[in-house]
Amino acid sequence: MLKNKTALITGSTSGIGLGIATELAKQNANVILNGFGSEADIKTAISTIDSLGTGRVVYSSANMLKVNEIEQMIADAQQQFGSVDILVNNAGIQHVMPIENFPTQKWDDIIAINLTSAFHTTRLCLTKMRANNWGRIINIASVHGLVASVNKSAYVAAKHGIIGLTKTVALETAEQGITVNSICPGFTLTPLIQAQIDDRAKTLGSQEAAIEVLLNEKQPSKTFVQTEHLGQLALFLCSDAASQMTGVSLPVDGGWTAQ
Ligand code: NAD
Repeated sequence: MLKNKTALITGSTSGIGLGIATELAKQNANVILNGFGSEADIKTAISTIDSLGTGRVVYSSANMLKVNEIEQMIADAQQQFGSVDILVNNAGIQHVMPIENFPTQKWDDIIAINLTSAFHTTRLCLTKMRANNWGRIINIASVHGLVASVNKSAYVAAKHGIIGLTKTVALETAEQGITVNSICPGFTLTPLIQAQIDDRAKTLGSQEAAIEVLLNEKQPSKTFVQTEHLGQLALFLCSDAASQMTGVSLPVDGGWTAQ
């Protein structure tokens, strides 16, 4: 389905980004992986994704905090593949702390990685998408782009922001075969959530108890979303059937935002 299309997924060395890269690679897209990790983990991610389809796989170590590195990543991608046809803005970090104690550097980093990097990648990829009259931009927001939780001020602000960015870019590109949408996952078991489970396990005594409390608090299905589910939804958004879906935010949250 995606032969000759090139997908760039920011933050795809683990978790949801890797899950999305997996589904796009299976459909023979060229894949540009990005993110941090040990050399061994990155090598494994590249060779696993490479084994899934006929597309080429490359890796960019660009830091989403740094505009010059984002610019270089997109320039390299366009030089190697002609254009980025599918842009998945997924890189993200979290920090949980009441606002009075929230470290100001963490605020800046969360806004930069979770929101501002998507502004840069989007502005840099759009000219080629417009020229091709085809493009898919998929922003990995969160349920926290739709509703708030305590102690997550920067994350909730960034995720609400990316939903606003999604709608604006959708309107600016609506006549050019480009769609721009957000996916809003609920709790998905990845390293980002594992850190919150580990924190709770310190007071609750075990990982199992921490997971139970976390899910019971917010996610009515009491089951984690799987990265495969999110990858499959991203794939659908790349299909012709989704060509008239633009500017929407799709919760995949076991009922969280229905409450
Ligand atoms: P994760 O920690 O597994 O993945 C985050 C990825 O971003 C990693 O590849 C990491 O290396 C990369 N990254 C972090 N900082 C970076 C930087 N400065 N430059 C480049 N890459 C960087 O976490 P995840 O849960 O897979 O998160 C992916 C996205 O999904 C995030 O935007 C997150 O907010 C969102 N999300 C996650 C959940 C969840 O429950 N896990 C729920 C809703 C939304």
